Amino acid sequence: MSKVLVLAGDGIGPEIVREAVKVLDVAKQKFALDVELDEALVGGAAVDAENDPLPQTTLEKARAADAILFGSIGGPKWDAIERDKRPERGLLRLRSTLGLFANLRPAILFPQLADASSLKPEVVSGLDILIVRELTGGIYFGQPRGIKEENGERVGFNTYVYTESEMRRIAKVAFELAMKRDKRVLSVDKANVLEVTELWKEVVTEEAKAYPEIELSHMYVDNAAMQLVRAPKQFDVIVTGNLFGDILSDEAAMLTGSIGMLPSASLDENRKGLYEPCHGSAPDIAGQGIANPLATIMSLAMLMRYSLERGDVADAIEAAVESVLDQGLRTADIYTEGTRKVGTEEMGSAVADAL
Ligand code: ATP
Ligand code: MG
Repeated sequence: MSKVLVLAGDGIGPEIVREAVKVLDVAKQKFALDVELDEALVGGAAVDAENDPLPQTTLEKARAADAILFGSIGGPKWDAIERDKRPERGLLRLRSTLGLFANLRPAILFPQLADASSLKPEVVSGLDILIVRELTGGIYFGQPRGIKEENGERVGFNTYVYTESEMRRIAKVAFELAMKRDKRVLSVDKANVLEVTELWKEVVTEEAKAYPEIELSHMYVDNAAMQLVRAPKQFDVIVTGNLFGDILSDEAAMLTGSIGMLPSASLDENRKGLYEPCHGSAPDIAGQGIANPLATIMSLAMLMRYSLERGDVADAIEAAVESVLDQGLRTADIYTEGTRKVGTEEMGSAVADAL
């Protein structure tokens, strides 16, 4: 039996997660999956109920689960509260407590949505990139950090640190994933300026020796950013640290047209994972029933693939998404003339039916 914890969160979170659960229920029947669902509070909803964005009961359930299906958190209601109680802190704590160090963000352009991208169709059609971002280290977590007074002025400082073992384990994740894809890995660094990434490049190169079939290449982050816009189809798997990965994955996301279509996975060392859409809680459209649930539904597909090791179920869910796009169904964010505009619920039901 597998345990899946559902953390719907705030804003559009509950609306989109509901549709993913609908699809999960159908998948359970169709594939006779032995999956037990539980749910808990996180983010602003948890702050309101228990004055803590990650209550102890939620954390315990998360520890016991094999996978977490996550909606989104935050919103203007909680913007002014003290830093430790902010909804986003709940997610950061969850990631670090569970050791979810590998963030996987696919950027896939569905041919049906080719005209939704901001780039020319010939540049992006067929795009299928997987960015593997280190998520629990690097400059986002390095010590010392802070803002201080020195010689009569303020000084801000952060520390960019990676241990060799942190670099090795993320490189290994990238190589393993690439083995199941096009066997090409690009490692992104700034080795000409930053020592930590000079070591990164060395360690990744060493780790690649265990994967003789993989074609490993290296690029400085500035060049990688440029190439992503110039000729993104040259890439298959991209592996990089926390900061560069943050920026490049948002950039790659935009090649695909809509933020409403982008899933993600954050994995630990034992295939446990947290699965969530790349977008936020979209307070501007929350409660209107118009949010796109496909990013969350495709996050569910990733959950099947990576934590439950059911690639067959993942493929079926993704095929169901493609088929509703083929039918011409579009939520407002991906709507173009000649297609049919539907709401969150109708989109979710259509995917469930197609499955
Ligand atoms: P966060 O800081 O949590 O990332 P954000 O303000 O940066 O949040 P989002 O909440 O992702 O960003 O919203 C950005 C824009 O994209 C908003 O206009 C929002 O309505 C839109 N958007 C986000 N997710 C969806 C979705 N699933 N369907 C339709 N539109 C969406
Ligand atoms: Mg954002």
